[in-house]
Amino acid sequence: MNKIKILPDEIINQIAAGEVLDRPSSAVKELVENSIDANSKKISVFVRDGGKTEIIVTDDGDGISKQELELAVTRHATSKLNEKKIDTLSFLGFRGEALPSIGSVSEMSIKSNINEDQNGMMIEIIAGIKKKIRPVNHRKGTTVSVKKLFFSTPARLKFLKTDNYESLLIKRIIQKLALCNYDIDFDLTINNKKAILTKSHKNCDKKEKFKRRVTTLLGSEFIENSIFIDETSENFKFKGYIGIPTFHHSNTNNQFLFVNGRVVQDKSMNVIFKVAYRDFMSYDRFPQLILFIECPQDEVDVNVHPSKNEMRFRNLNYLRSKILKVFKSNLITAGHRASTLNTLKAVEKFSIKSNQKTFLQLKDEKFNDENLNNLSHSSDNNNIDKQDKENSSLFPLGYAKSQFHKTYIMSETNEGIVIIDQHAAHERLVYEKLKKDFFEKKIKTQILLIPVVIDVDSSIIENLEKKLQLVSEYGVKIEIFGKTSVIVRELPHILANCNVKKLVIDLIEEVLETNDSKSVENEINKICSRMACHGSIRAGRDLQVDEMNDLLRKMESTPFSGQCNHGRPTYVELKIGDIEKLFGRK
Ligand code: ADP
Ligand code: MG
Repeated sequence: MNKIKILPDEIINQIAAGEVLDRPSSAVKELVENSIDANSKKISVFVRDGGKTEIIVTDDGDGISKQELELAVTRHATSKLNEKKIDTLSFLGFRGEALPSIGSVSEMSIKSNINEDQNGMMIEIIAGIKKKIRPVNHRKGTTVSVKKLFFSTPARLKFLKTDNYESLLIKRIIQKLALCNYDIDFDLTINNKKAILTKSHKNCDKKEKFKRRVTTLLGSEFIENSIFIDETSENFKFKGYIGIPTFHHSNTNNQFLFVNGRVVQDKSMNVIFKVAYRDFMSYDRFPQLILFIECPQDEVDVNVHPSKNEMRFRNLNYLRSKILKVFKSNLITAGHRASTLNTLKAVEKFSIKSNQKTFLQLKDEKFNDENLNNLSHSSDNNNIDKQDKENSSLFPLGYAKSQFHKTYIMSETNEGIVIIDQHAAHERLVYEKLKKDFFEKKIKTQILLIPVVIDVDSSIIENLEKKLQLVSEYGVKIEIFGKTSVIVRELPHILANCNVKKLVIDLIEEVLETNDSKSVENEINKICSRMACHGSIRAGRDLQVDEMNDLLRKMESTPFSGQCNHGRPTYVELKIGDIEKLFGRK
């Protein structure tokens, strides 16, 4: 057997590289974080072929002195940990691993200067072998160039994906760093094409600066369709933009999370966000949001993962309850707001020449546009009197003008027109009412004049008996009736006009499925949701103008009425400006 030996430095660095660097985007992240730590005001990134052949990061930061240049590329050498402890970190880096690791698996050069002249110094490392330091023309700041990443570790090279995909990952990480550091200018060039270019706005306050940064990086839809939050709860601070429920996405890519100034990617946090929106979003859609969490350093451990993407919270349950509370209370204030994306979508449907740019950005979003397909302006002009017109200024959803296709209500607002899906809207109202009544123990019931007998399978009777008590708490009184049927005696008043048989069969299915491990809240939501669907006015029913207006007023005063229980919008709005665009008046 071989004798035990300490590994040579090159091998140690390559092993570390395996942890810190899994792909070009992680090298970019480490280099840009170094530039941020060095107080840079402007950071430029250039990548070629997905970062596989070349990465260059240039900054105008503090620079590295001649004496320290060699130390910078030495393992476990860092300028960021003076206090001998790692729980009080104010820098992004602290391991002193990135530069030596990158240098061990590429051809790397660092040019740097700490003074405002051109007399810089440079060092090169080729696959871990350091070359002599020599003078170079370089202004204040640092330029790190990385060529042929992973050329000395072919196994790693094989795991990389296409250039396009690796470029996309790089773009995403710069996007995140630029969102978080909105005082710094970023620019990213991928194969000679500008992918990101930000400008810092010197003369505005922090909030406005951040808003502009979000608009530059994610488009104005992000701001238009989200709620600004800024709340402190004990020692946790929450800041950012959280999307309104109809502004959802097909995955969690648009959930940007930063904890104490660090980019964090954490599955357990994605789950918490999902839970916060559970009540108003279909299970396969995800909220979009930007969230900054600030907390005392001892609440988090950042030293869990070498690339510091993950974090461990001292008390995740505590944080979870805080996030849920902050999100819920803010989403309530958004009330009935529906996503402007649906308006855009509607305008697109109507217009002959659609605005390509806007809609390209929306391409990866799958919209449910059933509601919009059979949209036509065939409203029979109801005469509305002056009184009604005046009223419309008081109400955001305006005054109902007509119903068309027995499914949609058209209303006039001060700013334009609103089209409401009557079934979706009513379903949401019934749902919220049922839930509210349930929690306040105020469900009004109605005894059926003729009780309804429903046949059920004998195999479920025994199981059902225990569950009927649960259902009765929702105002649905059902008794076992013989060996193969049940009898329905009472229903919540709000469901009086529904098809009793269908409702009860549906409910039985729901309660038999629920097992005790499910959370009570979840169960309540599901049962109310099933009932709401049955209690709602169907699409295809004629409505009187009074009924329509009644629905609109209720929507205005009901939280979350901008979307139905499945996250579909309950209404779309066309502003006069949009309509003018359609007719080429603008
Ligand atoms: P860490 O960031 O964990 O300290 P690195 O290997 O990334 O470790 O960097 C080592 C040291 O090199 C840093 O502590 C810093 O002093 C210096 N350094 C790296 N990049 C820059 C830069 N762009 N500007 C100024 N100093 C830098
Ligand atoms: Mg670093």
